[in-house]
Formats: sequence, C-alpha cells, structure tokens
Amino acid sequence: MSPFQHGEVFVTEDGAETDLDLGHYERFISAKMKRVNNFTTGQIYESVIKKERRGEYLGKTVQVIPHITNEIQEFIERGARAAWEGKTDVAIVEIGGTVGDIESLPFVEAARQMSLRLGRGSCCFVHLTLVPFVPSAGELKTKPTQHSVQKLREIGISPDVLLCRADRPIPEEERAKISLFSNVPLNAVISVWDADSIYKVPSMLHKQGLDEIVCFALGIVSRPADLSAWDKLAYALEHPEHEIRIGMVGKYVDLSDSYKSLNEALTHAGIHTRTRVTIEYVDSEEIEREGTAVLKNLDAILVPGGFGKRGTEGKIKAIQFARENKVPYLGICLGMQLATIEFARNVCGLAGANSTEFDPDTPHPVVALITEWTDRTGRIERRSDQSDLGGTMRLGAQRVPVEPGTLAYRVYGSEVNERHRHRYEVNNAYVPQLEAKGYKVSARTPTENLPEMMELPAHPFFIGVQFHPEFTSTPRGGHPLFKAYIEAALACEQARRTAALQKVA
Ligand code: GLN
Repeated sequence: MSPFQHGEVFVTEDGAETDLDLGHYERFISAKMKRVNNFTTGQIYESVIKKERRGEYLGKTVQVIPHITNEIQEFIERGARAAWEGKTDVAIVEIGGTVGDIESLPFVEAARQMSLRLGRGSCCFVHLTLVPFVPSAGELKTKPTQHSVQKLREIGISPDVLLCRADRPIPEEERAKISLFSNVPLNAVISVWDADSIYKVPSMLHKQGLDEIVCFALGIVSRPADLSAWDKLAYALEHPEHEIRIGMVGKYVDLSDSYKSLNEALTHAGIHTRTRVTIEYVDSEEIEREGTAVLKNLDAILVPGGFGKRGTEGKIKAIQFARENKVPYLGICLGMQLATIEFARNVCGLAGANSTEFDPDTPHPVVALITEWTDRTGRIERRSDQSDLGGTMRLGAQRVPVEPGTLAYRVYGSEVNERHRHRYEVNNAYVPQLEAKGYKVSARTPTENLPEMMELPAHPFFIGVQFHPEFTSTPRGGHPLFKAYIEAALACEQARRTAALQKVA
C-alpha cells in the first residue's frame, strides 16, 4: 500500500494492513475491526479460484454471476459474524469506488442480490454523492448526483438515503430537485457539508434524522440517540484552555493523510487535556540541509513510523536536538529505532551505528532484522532473504509486560497491547551498552525478548515505542501515551514561558 495512493496504512489488532477508512470506523464506533472486515477484489478472486481448483463448483463454468457475487456475499456475512462474537445486529458495508466503475460492479451487484435474498426490512441503501459548488456560476450543481443515482438504479439499486457531500449546506430548493429526479424522499436527501471537525458530523447527520430513517428502513425500534458524548467532545475541541505546537519530523510532509491516525490521536489527546494541538510538519531533509533551527520554539518533537533511508539523518538530528535540549520526544516505530541509533552514535560513541535497513554494512547494527543477529557482539554473519518484503513484517497487536518504575509503566500500567507494523528490531546485543549510558528498555516482548519500549529516565519525557499507539486511540477515550506526551509538552511550554518572563523581569 503506497501512502501516495492510500494515505495511511491502517493496521488492525489481528494484523491486517488496510485502507485508512477502517480506522475511522474503529474511532467512531469504538469497535475493533478484524482482518475479515476488509476485503478486496483480489481476495475474492483468489478464493473463487481456489474453490474451483478444489472442484467445489463440480466442473461448472466459473462466472462473475453467480460465483464472484456469491463469494462477495459470503465475505460480507463472514465479516459481520466476526464482530461481537457473532451477535452483530447490523453490518455497515462500505463499497469503495464510484458507481459505474468496472471494478466495483460485481460488488454493487452482490449487494443487490443480497437485499433480494434478505428481503424487505433487512437492507438499507445509503448512497454518497457529490454536489459541487461552481464558484463562477455561484451555484451548487445537482446534476452529478442525479446521474449517479440514475446509474445506480440502472444496475438495480434504488437508494433509501442520499448523503450529499458539498462544501456548504445544501438549501432545500436543491435538495427538492435531487429528491424529485432521484426518487428519494426529500427528508432522506441529507446535506453533508464540510465540517471543521469530523467529530461534528454525527450530530450533523442526527439533526437531519439519518439515524431514524435507517432504523425505520431496517425495522429497528430504538430509543432516541444520545449524542451528548460527541457534543461534549466537539465543545472541548472548540474551547481549549492551552495551546502547544508539536514538530512532526517526516518525509511525506505535505501528505497529512499519511499520518491520519497519528493526527487524530494527537487531537484526541488534546481534547482530553483541553489543549489545542498544532502540528508543524517538519521536512527531515530540510533539517539535513539547514540544521535544527526550525525546531526552536516547538513544545515537543515527534518522529513517526516510516520506511526507507531518505530523510533518516535529518530525523536523527531532530532527535538529538530533543534529547540535548530536554524537549519532550515521542518516537514511534522508526522513531524509536532512530532514537536508538542517535544514542548509540552520540552517547555510546559507536561511530557509524545504524539500522541495516539504511546501511547494510554498518559497523554497529544497533537496529537489524532478527534473522540477522548472529552473535553476542551484534555482528552480522548471515543475511536473511529479504526478497519477500510483504511476508516478513511483524504485524498486529501483542501483549507485552511493562517494567515497573518506568515512564512506560506510569503511562500504561503493567501491560501494553499495541499494534505493530515493522520488519526491523533494536538489536539486543547492544542493549547493555545503551542501558549503561542511561537509555533503558522499559518493556520487552515475552517470548522473543525484543525491546518494545525504550526511554531516557534522565530526560523529562523521552520515549520510543516499537509499536503504533495511534491505532488504538479513540476520540471518546483518548490514549494514555498521547495524553502523557501532551502533558509533558504543556509543562515544557509553561517552563519556557516562565523563563521568558523571568528574563524580562
Ligand atoms: N522501517 C522500519 C522497520 O521496518 C520501521 C517501520 C515503521 O516505522 N513502521 O522496522
């Protein structure tokens, strides 16, 4: 999955790498998605071809209808069964793409067949359309919506609800036009305008009655919705009491979708600490060229996950800056590995220390593939076969005990259960040297004994985590690590302000 095409890769608890939309579902409904809750055309075809090879179709000609469309329906049901121990009441199924795309056609057809099979009252079709505003005409255009609904009806589905995306609220007149041409009742033509926060959207939809329309279509009798938690959240977001600036040092600087969950996690932590969190994207290659001046006046520094050598030296400089200037530092995955490299080089005096990902011939492979550690000194003798890049990843959540008396313990308590997506690990052969100089391992995986979290006890807040904590943060709950990080940043900001005042006095 390329971040250029898909934005962030979201990782489920059971280790599936999925599109970032699944992350939104987890955050909104606070439910854990599984591998089977996301599937692609490739998986459907693979499954059908395997069945055909096993003779399950008894030699019949394999066709899109019924074989592919049946398989899609089975996958949908399997996904629904996977959640809530099989006691799922409603499955929300999102079909990606655009109506009329060749790729999505079998999926739409499968949905049509499924609604026929399940019968009336068991299915509600919600169609998302675009209502563009054309500035030169000063008008919202309803034509694309009309045509998209026509296309959908042509392939057999009459939507129950239209969610009309626009940059502004759609006036009744335009909604009435859409209703008339698309055969959807006016009250079910719902205007979904650009909100300044995604967390205002539940209430936007509720006020227009979407929840009741869907419940009615599915024959669900329910109490009125209670959205007070969402309203409180939106209020806290709009009325912060403090403000901090975090420098996020990465290379996809202008693609904030690449760090979607991370941005969300920082926002959630801000909500729960009444802090407006402003993220400054710092291009690590700019640090390589121009030094760390851009990091002055930031209240905290963060190095997120990443792959590949480009920009790593700039990130290492940023980490050194955070360590030496006692600026709160959070290193996620690659951010922990680079913090280890920085410490090895600049504190332990291990010149040329690196990860074998960036320098296969480094004299000090402080970060390496597990299969590369061969002796106690950390020397690498045998190279593993790295050709199968997709298959060697450590993926998904793992329960790991936390060392008492550490920052990690104060944040997480006795156990951490967070999701992984990486190939390289901190090389245990170097840990004694790192620890002797004050860079401590605060959690280790139980079986392989791999460093899971590392920290500097002598620093106000300096922690690296081998996992991705951002995937488990929810707006209503926040996340302990991000909350602690924001609190440390606040303390840093306040200390700086006091120091500035004293200077003036
Ligand atoms: N590139 C590193 C690895 O594969 C870190 C990956 C990450 O940050 N997710 O181990």
